[in-house]
Amino acid sequence: MTIREMPESWRFVVEVPEEGSEGTHRQWDVTLPDDISLGGIPYRLKSPLVVSVDLSRSGEGVRADIRLVGSIKTECSRCLSTLEVALDENFGYCYVPQPDDEESDDADLSEDVMVVTRIGKTIDISQVLWECFVVSMPPFPQCPEGCDSIGPFTTREEGEAADPRFQILADKFGSFT
Ligand SMILES: [Zn+2]
Repeated sequence: MTIREMPESWRFVVEVPEEGSEGTHRQWDVTLPDDISLGGIPYRLKSPLVVSVDLSRSGEGVRADIRLVGSIKTECSRCLSTLEVALDENFGYCYVPQPDDEESDDADLSEDVMVVTRIGKTIDISQVLWECFVVSMPPFPQCPEGCDSIGPFTTREEGEAADPRFQILADKFGSFT
């Protein structure tokens, strides 16, 4: 099964640090059992994805600093050859409790803010991590040294579609058999 949305196994909960304490650090080595398909482009974790989360108190809220490090296999959007892409992405989120005053204005908050009912003892950061992971995937991967896009003169291996345009469709939408 190709993964197209957050799998059930993707679950991360972090303890909220006590007020005045240093903060909480958690790290996971994440593996996914299947290929991921996003926008028709296949991705596969080549090695476990190292997910680090640092939570710290920030006023009423909790700040989450997230780092994703790993490497993925995907295919070049021009020539369809296999590509390995290194990931090292950082994200910052802030969890803030729902304000009592409905009319409070959050418009000048510059970073990503997640409003939660209240700050409890733990924060389920699964959804945020999934969004971070998805936006870390290169949207149009291409060979770094350049390559020829597939055209009528490209030599194709046995088993591939005779007409490369159909192969691209097959890669995009899956085979119909
Ligand atoms: Zn290429």
